[in-house]
Amino acid sequence: MKAMIVRSYGGPEALRLEDVETPRPGIGEVLVAVRAVTVNRTRDLNVVAGQAAGSEALPLVVGQDPAGDIVEVGPSVDKSRVGSRVIVSSRITCGECDLCRSGRGSDCRKARHIGIHRWGGYAEYVAVPASQAIELADSLGYAEAAVAMRHFPMAYQQLRGKAGVQAGEWVLVMGASGGLGSACVQVAKLMGAKVIAGAGGEERVAAALALGADFGINYRTENLTDRVREITGGSGVDVVCENISDPTTFPAAFASLAIMGRLVTAGAHGGGTVPVDMKQLYQKRQRILGSAGHDTDDIVQAMLNAGTGSLKAKVDLVLPLSRLHEAFHLVHERKIAGKIVIDPQAM
Ligand SMILES: [Zn+2]
Repeated sequence: MKAMIVRSYGGPEALRLEDVETPRPGIGEVLVAVRAVTVNRTRDLNVVAGQAAGSEALPLVVGQDPAGDIVEVGPSVDKSRVGSRVIVSSRITCGECDLCRSGRGSDCRKARHIGIHRWGGYAEYVAVPASQAIELADSLGYAEAAVAMRHFPMAYQQLRGKAGVQAGEWVLVMGASGGLGSACVQVAKLMGAKVIAGAGGEERVAAALALGADFGINYRTENLTDRVREITGGSGVDVVCENISDPTTFPAAFASLAIMGRLVTAGAHGGGTVPVDMKQLYQKRQRILGSAGHDTDDIVQAMLNAGTGSLKAKVDLVLPLSRLHEAFHLVHERKIAGKIVIDPQAM
């Protein structure tokens, strides 16, 4: 098969298109013909650069959450799965730690990743544990599934798993036009919440409103806390999705929380160290929740709703495997705002 192999860590040039032996599915594994896999800054680029924690010995094929067709199954896997259209969940939980055994696999202590610790999706084929391959609705395209996989399951984990959002609650999503932010807006709406989109620009606010947010606030030009109080009739929001951690915007978002409110976070690209009003936290009995990853049901929910069109995953550019370098450069130099999908069956 053709695969983009990393033999030594580095920039995009570390990826080399090579002919290698097609992997065979082992016990409990399936072989997937990859039809779509995304390119991500904080994951793939950093993995190629050797910055991912606990990476295996090289050579490595990077590329997480590929979508494609099961073309072969290994021993002890139901043969009827051949021909299934699937999305592969890259995060493999250990199944043995205390958290896995108590049904909290999203918090597994020893999770490993396809595309970091074992070969991933920048190849014509990838062998993965059968349990990682989740069936797709016929109505959902491979590219859309790969993009949906990127942020929707994490949005479900934040809003449903961690913050426990209830229908009718107020949710403020910060960075609402970003990848995870726009997923949070859509998932919160689908859960029946009333959504306020906070974004740093008029166009970004408009984009979040187009995705279904009920209200939009440009936090660069408006007083975020005052506007939230106004919109919510003085009470504040029940949940803040704060995936930025910028010291200049975090305090206003935190101050927007209602009594018993929850702030949930899975991101810190805005700096990561922020002032927190601890007096407010205890006086209003609030909680700050960390969230990372997702569990299988988050993926199932995400794919189900992407399949019916209730959640919209936007594919911005599809490139063949041979143009992966170009994709890496576009992402690295921030020349593309949306998602690039690689199709390894196209050369
Ligand atoms: Zn575990």
